[in-house]
Amino acid sequence: MQPFFLLAALVLSMIGLPPAVAGDSSTGGPQLLPPQGPVAQGEVARILVRGVPAAGTVAGSWQGEPVGFFPLANGEWGALLGIDLRLSPGTYPLEVRLQPKGQTPVLWKEPVQVVAKDYGVEHLQLPERMVTLDAKTLKRVKQEEARFSAVWEQRSPECYWREPFLRPLPGTLLSTFGRNRVINGEERSPHTGLDLRAAVGEPVLASNSGRIALVGDFFFHGRAVVIDHGFGLYTMYFHLSEVKVKKGERVERGAVIGLAGATGRASGPHLHWGVRLAGARVDPLALLKATGGET
Ligand SMILES: [Zn+2]
Repeated sequence: MQPFFLLAALVLSMIGLPPAVAGDSSTGGPQLLPPQGPVAQGEVARILVRGVPAAGTVAGSWQGEPVGFFPLANGEWGALLGIDLRLSPGTYPLEVRLQPKGQTPVLWKEPVQVVAKDYGVEHLQLPERMVTLDAKTLKRVKQEEARFSAVWEQRSPECYWREPFLRPLPGTLLSTFGRNRVINGEERSPHTGLDLRAAVGEPVLASNSGRIALVGDFFFHGRAVVIDHGFGLYTMYFHLSEVKVKKGERVERGAVIGLAGATGRASGPHLHWGVRLAGARVDPLALLKATGGET
């Protein structure tokens, strides 16, 4: 079975029936299947447009960011919607535009309800030099964060992946996504990825196909790799002992991109795995779930 047919089948099975649809279904016209019910902070929702004519295109907008749609099969186009960990609960518009070739566009504006999610609190003890930074280190950290921000702003115009996302290594969860962090008794930034148990030297796999967007050795993240999966979707892999890829290189789903380690600010060997979706900080497990991967 072709991967995109498989994905289409997965999308349909995940969305479930009967779907809430927007658009004129009585005449067999195009339909938008928005998220089914409220979506929580840090989660990923699938959306689908049905009945897209050949040579038609679909584009969307969410939180002022473009939503990248990709063709599946049988006139269906899919997209992923990321809800930032700190997006205030409320109702926000999802705008979708179907442009049939040479015809009037079809526009949808659907309210999406965002609800709060309690991800818990984590207390950590770290060496003071890794928490209270001197001026030189602080400058380095700011420059490094700017390199990451520059990556998140890039939007590759194509979608590099088709199959479900996979876990980069099999290790158990050491720390979940979204926890508020109290380090040495002080409240700090939340944990925007998840930590998987790993031995030093254990292979780390590309969660899906893409292009290497960033490779470096960072104060907090240690040796790190960021993969661009297209349309503003990125996965990141931190604290590696060794990096096996170069910036700009194309990688296939499941390829070894590095070896796990404890570089940067890490209290022991593990893999920090994070996801950005059109700028939103989302739970990697939510990405697995939304694409039919094994959590
Ligand atoms: Zn982590």
